[in-house]
Amino acid sequence: WSKKEGKNRYRFYSSELNIQNYKQLQLRHDLRMAVKRDQFMVFYQPMVRIKNNQILAVEALIRWNHPDWGMVSPDEFIYLAEETGVIVEMGKWLLKKVCEDQRYWMLKGYEPVYISVNFSSIQFYERDFVKSITDVLAEYEVDPKYLIVELTESLIIENAHKAIADIEKLQRAGIKVALDDFGTGYSSLSYLQHFNIDIIKMDASFLKNIMTDQTSAIIARAIISLTKELRIKLVCEGIENWEQLSFLRENNCFAGQGYLYSRPVPFLKIDEILEKGKCRPVFSNTTFK
Ligand code: C2E
Ligand code: MG
Ligand code: MG
Ligand code: MG
Repeated sequence: WSKKEGKNRYRFYSSELNIQNYKQLQLRHDLRMAVKRDQFMVFYQPMVRIKNNQILAVEALIRWNHPDWGMVSPDEFIYLAEETGVIVEMGKWLLKKVCEDQRYWMLKGYEPVYISVNFSSIQFYERDFVKSITDVLAEYEVDPKYLIVELTESLIIENAHKAIADIEKLQRAGIKVALDDFGTGYSSLSYLQHFNIDIIKMDASFLKNIMTDQTSAIIARAIISLTKELRIKLVCEGIENWEQLSFLRENNCFAGQGYLYSRPVPFLKIDEILEKGKCRPVFSNTTFK
């Protein structure tokens, strides 16, 4: 009977694969209409100052509310959006939504809310990248100083000349620049000399391993002291438990982000959190769909 079981198992795996392929095909096909059909949503996740739980900023993370597949995560469609070029229209939609929300919170009288937005390489290398951002900010009357643009290391290495120029342009406009997923690229630290980065986001993989892998802990500590000496603000990504938070507290890390503080949440929920102004670490399993 082992033969038969083997066969069934094979069939099971292959149908799983077919579902994945089918989903991918459908997503690719539907993506083009997703903006017009108003299927994208912005979730927000707080970045928290570790010593006093103050909310420093919120990161905007896109979600696709698909009629058949439910809430689809960016890992499943950002690359499709890049391949098809839809990312540009999607990004513009997101930036407008973020500006709208920022204005709303401003008018409600909250402490100014800094919003961090991810941009991928395709967006960055579009013509008039900087202008396309400053135009939206002007249209919504949002002060550029409340926007943080998140770029990755690999993106700025791709074309260092253009990156240096555009990062400068962003900063001259008053926008802050963050380096996302820091420590994962095949890049060298030397570029920190050439780029004037405001914020570094240490990739979650370091915190994930600090308890079991001495090397990760050593690198994490080194990144904390390096950024301190360079006067770059550090945000550690992926804080999920108390051990990780204690480690960051012991090492006087500036800021963090992760499920222990809050998962990325929809507008109404982040509005509640912002109204309080603080975000305490609490373990929670709640996922918002
Ligand atoms: P990212 O910018 O590095 O964002 C952090 C990711 O880690 C988010 O995944 C967030 O939900 C997740 N995360 C936060 N805290 C924790 C934690 O404690 N544990 C774990 N395991 N994960 C945590 P998400 O929302 O699925 O986004 C994935 C990636 O997709 C983002 O990585 C970013 O690169 C990209 N992305 C998201 N939204 C946009 C967007 O609007 N535009 C572009 N171009 N890319 C986006
Ligand atoms: Mg990010
Ligand atoms: Mg990241
Ligand atoms: Mg990422």
